[in-house]
Amino acid sequence: MSVVEGLTAETKRTVAGRFAGLRLGSGRPMIIAGPCSVESEEQIVAAARAVKAAGATALRGGAFKPRTSPRSFQGLGEEGLRLLAVARAETGLPVVTEVMDTAQIDLVAEYADVLQVGSRNMQNFALLKQVGRAGKPVLLKRGLSATLEEWLAAAEYILESGNDQVILCERGIRTFETSTRNTLDLSTAILARTRSGLPVIVDPSHAAGRRDLIEPLSLAALAAGMDGLMIEVHPDPDRALSDAAQQLNFEQFSRLMARLELLPASALESIDACREEIDRLDERILDLLLRRMAAARRVGQLKRGAGLPVLQEDREHALIDRLAGLAGDELAGEEVREIWQAILAVSRRAQQALHA
Ligand code: PEP
Ligand code: MN
Repeated sequence: MSVVEGLTAETKRTVAGRFAGLRLGSGRPMIIAGPCSVESEEQIVAAARAVKAAGATALRGGAFKPRTSPRSFQGLGEEGLRLLAVARAETGLPVVTEVMDTAQIDLVAEYADVLQVGSRNMQNFALLKQVGRAGKPVLLKRGLSATLEEWLAAAEYILESGNDQVILCERGIRTFETSTRNTLDLSTAILARTRSGLPVIVDPSHAAGRRDLIEPLSLAALAAGMDGLMIEVHPDPDRALSDAAQQLNFEQFSRLMARLELLPASALESIDACREEIDRLDERILDLLLRRMAAARRVGQLKRGAGLPVLQEDREHALIDRLAGLAGDELAGEEVREIWQAILAVSRRAQQALHA
């Protein structure tokens, strides 16, 4: 049995432990955001601050860039790594950056928290054999035309070097379609996750190559259960030295995070913005309460059919205790009890009306 096939439910349970510093496996998606390339201290620090404020959990930025043309911007190299470290010191965000060559591994590992192996290097076997030895998590992007088998086999090279901290990243594959840069292959991303037990994230920026598709593709990826996203964000995308068409500006990223329900309340900068958020959440809560009431009425009918009483105190206590136990930072157990006692009272009344 191959290493990848051997990764089972046990591996999944240990994801949280393996990636402790990255909050992977915490139940919340990992959001890696930042510019395509590190261009200057001002640019990367501004991007780091903006994405952190909007709820990103890691910073990306290319220092060594794999560019199709030798005349395109090749990245700032070691200076870019140094600037990423400055941005990390300013924000506390872990840094994800690409390593293109075995000769760069030690250098990149000195600065980065996660080593990225890019699409064009997914079958650079010398790199795969050595990149895991730096002892850092490795983000392995899927090759432009790699099959699931080839992608998982590449991951296996890293796992076999004794490093189990591998994150897979689906970034679109090359197809006949020309209206997008690549084609996001969510099907294979889902299969990669179930087959390997490794966390899988999606990079809609490189998949689509156009900023208008980032939001719907991000929503789709998270709805499909992916472990996170990698999003390109630049202070002034149209002037970016690489991948200008696909990068989001700070405001667009912040709106994306709001749509994904990942924008922290601290990012709401005005009373109006807070009220808008509260109104939106209230509508969601009401919609859920309406659905809850319908389910409560239905259970009332079924209880009547079964000759059971409306009030089943054990059930009510168990329900409230369970929720109080789940209470988090923003709501204490006692407050949860207070709210659900009110909900249950209304629900009981509706059921009693059925029995009357
Ligand atoms: C990148 O993420 O900077 C990058 C070059 O992506 P890919 O390897 O997916 O093309
Ligand atoms: Mn890019």
